[in-house]
Amino acid sequence: MNTAASILIIYTGGTIGMIKDQESGALKPFNFENIYEQIPDLKLLQYELEFYCFDPLIDSSNMDPLVWQQLANVIKHNYETYDGFVILHGSDTMAYTASALSFMLENLNKTVVLTGSQLPLGFLRSDGRDNLITSIEIAAAKEDETPVVPEVCIYFENQLLRGNRAVKYSSENFNAFVSGNYQALAEVGIYIKYNREKIRKPNFKKLKVQTELETNVGIVKLFPGINEHILKPIFENEIIKAIVLETFGSGNASSEEWFLNILEKAIKRGLIVLNVSQCITGSVDQSTYETGMGLEKIGVISGRDISTEAAITKLMYVLGKESSREVAINKLNISLRGEID
Ligand code: ASP
Repeated sequence: MNTAASILIIYTGGTIGMIKDQESGALKPFNFENIYEQIPDLKLLQYELEFYCFDPLIDSSNMDPLVWQQLANVIKHNYETYDGFVILHGSDTMAYTASALSFMLENLNKTVVLTGSQLPLGFLRSDGRDNLITSIEIAAAKEDETPVVPEVCIYFENQLLRGNRAVKYSSENFNAFVSGNYQALAEVGIYIKYNREKIRKPNFKKLKVQTELETNVGIVKLFPGINEHILKPIFENEIIKAIVLETFGSGNASSEEWFLNILEKAIKRGLIVLNVSQCITGSVDQSTYETGMGLEKIGVISGRDISTEAAITKLMYVLGKESSREVAINKLNISLRGEID
């Protein structure tokens, strides 16, 4: 007997849930108990929908690892009850949350779709209605009783992207996200065309949630002219356990002695430095140019084709889980959830 798929919609905040206050005209979050008034078409879906609302609702620029822990726990506690999950989230930091959850939800065998919108649901031209309805369909999609997309993903406009491969690139386009180094998991038009070869296969193991995260990590973006006075205090700060170093092109950085010395000293005392390219497409390769080889020589780890969002959250996850530096470095060198090739 086929029963209707049950989907838990988790509302964290962001533009999607905003409506205009009738009197003041200001944008305010709407009460999710009235969701069917906002989107009457939801009633036409043949799924059982339930809602979980965060309190307080947040603009995603206020997102932090504590909220990721709450989110992961909501999924953990409801995992057996629902067939799939849709998380409504502001688009600004959605790629960070999707990346973090992809690591924290170990052995995920159900679909978790993050979505939001560029225009609030209360606006006539809002992209939120379609984003929400399609996300629900994707979260409910099964084949042979198995979810079609057993991973954490982001749905926006007409593309389903692997969460830890997505990057927000536009603050205006409805199509706000790109995945420069990995094909879309599905393209949505009249049909939802799943790119099955690119979707992770389920492992049918029991979900395990790792909520411990190391938050003493940082991101340093290089630019021509960056100097010793700026970098030294960061790399000498012993509280910092790991740094994502955003480098040029295929992972290149200054070959100046002062620069390499600062990094080498920090790495020798135990800091982990992960090299991520400032380019959205392409990979770090520390063996092509002299300016990359210098980094390889002193022990900088190549992030390969990882995004900054995935890199920083992978560091939090791996260092939160592993106390051995060596094991942590091994994990950074391999793909844990399809975040690198
Ligand atoms: N500032 C909003 C947020 O990220 C923008 C959005 O929802 O798209 O929460």
